[in-house]
Amino acid sequence: MEYERERTLLIRSLAEQGVSERTLKAMKKVPRHLFVPSIHASRAYVDSPLPIGHAQTISAPHMVAMMCDLLELKEGQKILEIGAGSGYNAAVMAEIIGKKGQIYSIERLEKLAVFAHENLENAGYSNVEVILGDGSLGWPDNAPYDRICVTASAPDTPHPLIEQLKPGGIMVIPEGEGYQRLYIIRKSPDGEVTKQDWGGVIFVPLVGHHGFNPYDSKRG
Ligand code: SAM
Repeated sequence: MEYERERTLLIRSLAEQGVSERTLKAMKKVPRHLFVPSIHASRAYVDSPLPIGHAQTISAPHMVAMMCDLLELKEGQKILEIGAGSGYNAAVMAEIIGKKGQIYSIERLEKLAVFAHENLENAGYSNVEVILGDGSLGWPDNAPYDRICVTASAPDTPHPLIEQLKPGGIMVIPEGEGYQRLYIIRKSPDGEVTKQDWGGVIFVPLVGHHGFNPYDSKRG
């Protein structure tokens, strides 16, 4: 199969970094080369972010793996993703939650929403719905969510996302401008919210009502 050797080497390297069996199994199945512009397909299994146009990137495989592990994904869950980008992260999560689960992935840039939708369709993922909109407001229509995965860096935790997280749910979110940290936010069964700092990361900015201002050139 095309790119199988490259994908196997990538998975081996992620295994050495301590990624869980569950996430490795999912990433083994997702053809990342179908989620990058064809000009970058030969680099699809290098562990780095790649440009997907419109000044945005597909996240590096180790970052996708890390976020999936931190989210403690389980079969049948309902997930909200902010920042569909290429659709790759959604595809990996879809492999883990299985056909009984559902993902809603919001993207603010129309061309990328179409890109993500087409990539997911070509790769055969039917339980991911890509929605065009401002994910800093969440997506109240299908709330609450078992898990929320934010793939762009916010100035602070958008309160609609906390409200739309189910009791017992987990959210991962990068926050900060320039110097960014990844946070794990947990809502206990009785609604208490805790925030744990996982460490430094680099993401594109979350642009929107509870994100950065699109008209501020420093913030993209
Ligand atoms: N998850 C993506 C993937 O697997 O390719 C990577 C996403 S990329 C690092 C971040 C994405 O967030 C970009 O496509 C960007 O346009 C999008 N974004 C930024 N602000 C947003 C917002 N307020 N709502 C929805 N999407 C947003």
